[in-house]
Amino acid sequence: MAEPSLLDRHRAVLPTWLALYYDEPLEIVHGHGRRVTDSTGRTYLDFFAGILTNAIGYDVAEISDAVRKQLDSGILHTSTLYLIRSQVELAERIAALSGIPDAKVFFTNSGTEANETALMLATQYRRSNQVLALRNSYHGRAFATVGVTGNRGWSASALSPVKVSYVHGGYRYRSPFAGLSDEDYIRACTDDLRDVLATGTSGDVACMIVEPIQGVGGFSLPPDGLFASFAEVLAEHGILFVSDEVQTGWGRTGEHFWGIGAHGVTPDMMTFAKGLGNGLAIGGVVARGEVMDSLGANSISTFGGNPVSTVGARAVLDYLVDHDLQANAATLGARLLAGLRESAGRHPVVGDVRGKGLMVGVELVEPGTTTPAPAAAVTVLEEARRLGLLVGKGGLHNNVIRLAPPMTLTAEELDEALGILDAAIAAADGSGR
Ligand code: PMP
Repeated sequence: MAEPSLLDRHRAVLPTWLALYYDEPLEIVHGHGRRVTDSTGRTYLDFFAGILTNAIGYDVAEISDAVRKQLDSGILHTSTLYLIRSQVELAERIAALSGIPDAKVFFTNSGTEANETALMLATQYRRSNQVLALRNSYHGRAFATVGVTGNRGWSASALSPVKVSYVHGGYRYRSPFAGLSDEDYIRACTDDLRDVLATGTSGDVACMIVEPIQGVGGFSLPPDGLFASFAEVLAEHGILFVSDEVQTGWGRTGEHFWGIGAHGVTPDMMTFAKGLGNGLAIGGVVARGEVMDSLGANSISTFGGNPVSTVGARAVLDYLVDHDLQANAATLGARLLAGLRESAGRHPVVGDVRGKGLMVGVELVEPGTTTPAPAAAVTVLEEARRLGLLVGKGGLHNNVIRLAPPMTLTAEELDEALGILDAAIAAADGSGR
């Protein structure tokens, strides 16, 4: 009998709901720069960067050297009950970069835990378990975070310890307010927020949590200024504002270091993960000191802030800043958006191209309508792979192609990807060349 494949073995021992990409899932065994190689020896340009974990790409000597030096010390980790120099230094850096007054940082191992911590802090601080979130949001896969996830395809459980009310704002393309000008859209969403607060809550809500650009939700984003308008309403009630920067942090949006920067808002808390580790498991919360210190009991994370992750993350942050990758994201992001919009003009299957910096979504529709076309997204994903490009997929209807390469991307690599994407989209709308 033939040996079972890795896919068969995966299916036998891992949950059915653990999502896998591609008809024939990839096993990636090597990476360098912006390219990865699979177990059959095929190399791909990576425009999803491990769902934005690889902020600066693969096989970066500065990161590997920093981590190796830590490994050579013989200490992968002992305990967060002892002082860890790299943890303190990384917290100092992030607190300063956050722009939050008196900021303090707590490290976790993932974005989910970061958001769980933020929700626990907000509910403790405000003595309320009512939370506002955006429709079409994604904030993680644990008990409270699935509750604030407004995308039923990714909300693993309908049970929740927090009482959540969802408001409009993040997903404009399919919003009832889609046709409005930026200004009217902001007004309509703010009215909706006021209405939800007045009718669906008792008023003493703990916090609102938002993604400046919705990640799993298909890289959809509101007009700049929406969250400033929301923050004004929240301030009237003393409600905390939490920006989930798990996908939008570290300069990826080009214009600002944090995605929320586009709105001119300083949140009470931000959560982060993914890109900071460039593949190492790290996440965290940066919050106003008073909010962070509001927990009455002891609480540690065994692995949160461990030496390997924080030494690596410190090197990632140095690299991001020293190489001004935010500026690269702005320049190449503008070119990516323009290239895709130009291509969209030729392909009726493209309904919307949107995003900021190196975080761009392409929403696919039945030509001539706004009906979601999830099958077209599968075609683009598979065809791009066949042509040597890895991309992401997402959105409420699974019909959005998500593009988020490492921020070290070069102009040549960008042009290569644009060529492949044009061909893959052509295959999807049947307008093949
Ligand atoms: N918040 C956002 C915005 C995310 O995109 C994700 C992951 N896709 C999370 C939180 C959860 O992060 P993790 O998977 O590291 O738990």
